[in-house]
Amino acid sequence: MKTSLILTTILAFAAMNTLFAQQTDNQRIPTKGFAVHEAHGHFQPYEFTRHAVGDNDIQIEILYAGICHSDLHHVFADWGAEEYPMVPGHEIAGRVVAVGKNVTKFKVGDYAGIGCMIGSCRQCDACKHDLEQYCEEGAVMTYHGIDRFNDNEHTQGGYSTAYVVAEDFAIKIPENAEIEKVAPLLCAGITSYSPLMQAGVKKGDKVGIAGFGGLGHMGLQYAVSLGADVTVFDITDDKRDDALRMGATRYVNVNNPEEMKGLERQFDFILSTIPAKYEPVQYLKMLKLDGQLGIVGLPAFRNMPSLTVAELVFQGPRHVFGSQIGGIKETQEMLDYSVAHGIYPQVEIIRADGAEIDKAYQNVLDGKVKFRYVIDMSTM
Ligand SMILES: [Zn+2]
Ligand SMILES: [Zn+2]
Repeated sequence: MKTSLILTTILAFAAMNTLFAQQTDNQRIPTKGFAVHEAHGHFQPYEFTRHAVGDNDIQIEILYAGICHSDLHHVFADWGAEEYPMVPGHEIAGRVVAVGKNVTKFKVGDYAGIGCMIGSCRQCDACKHDLEQYCEEGAVMTYHGIDRFNDNEHTQGGYSTAYVVAEDFAIKIPENAEIEKVAPLLCAGITSYSPLMQAGVKKGDKVGIAGFGGLGHMGLQYAVSLGADVTVFDITDDKRDDALRMGATRYVNVNNPEEMKGLERQFDFILSTIPAKYEPVQYLKMLKLDGQLGIVGLPAFRNMPSLTVAELVFQGPRHVFGSQIGGIKETQEMLDYSVAHGIYPQVEIIRADGAEIDKAYQNVLDGKVKFRYVIDMSTM
């Protein structure tokens, strides 16, 4: 009798556990997206689940996802080994469809965005200074990351229908924003905005934008809005008209020696967004003596440019600094500033379709994109 009671209790407990596990599983968020299953693979429909909406989380129905050049680097394993299947995408704009019980920043129906990171320790020096991207324990990346705050889940990105994120790492998108153009601001926008702020660019400054792609065309617009006199550098003539239309005073084709004359010691600040091999010292020499070179472009490891100590010594008090996206607080500032000033990327909207994404990647590789592809996830 006693044995059977214990057995019954154990069985009841096991059944409860199974029930609990099922409930937890049921609360996971079914998500459809597009993944590559190997480096250089094609995009294919892929179904997976995201963790349940926790007390401090929001669930976003993704409306638009930008295609960033770094998505290509991850898909191609240009920056080291990657895990597959991989759903890329860290430029995400959508609608809040569920909120946890402690959430105060969002309500259901609001627009919300996600950029490159979705978590950090919140305790270290970097986190306390609103620089979560440099978290001493590592920021959790929106995809190709391990989410140590959610059972070490392998993170998957925004080429998908839904995302669950802590409200602190979601960005509020103003209701009057041009929502189909917002997604690229969450990476291309903040990555070019932050170094302009760090350099203290102001009215009348001479600014150079090296590399006129997704990042460069945002950097140009921010620099112009700050009142700077902006020169754009790129390797072809194809984008000259676009640069002048967006407010550049000069466009330089760096492959034309005539156009490269007379540029030494001219600039207060140059932003390098170049994603390929180049000579950084060429741009250092264009700076005034106390000028600054901010570097945000990150080429593939095999094409990584370098600066020698000798070059730095000979360039004297010119400053070089690197910059990686921006913290959450600055990302919110950037987004509010962009919407208030009508600064948006120039986008080409594509359907949520594997072959369309493959084609867009090829065009980015061939330098044919003007200037950002955005996937309309509502067409999935
Ligand atoms: Zn990016
Ligand atoms: Zn930290």
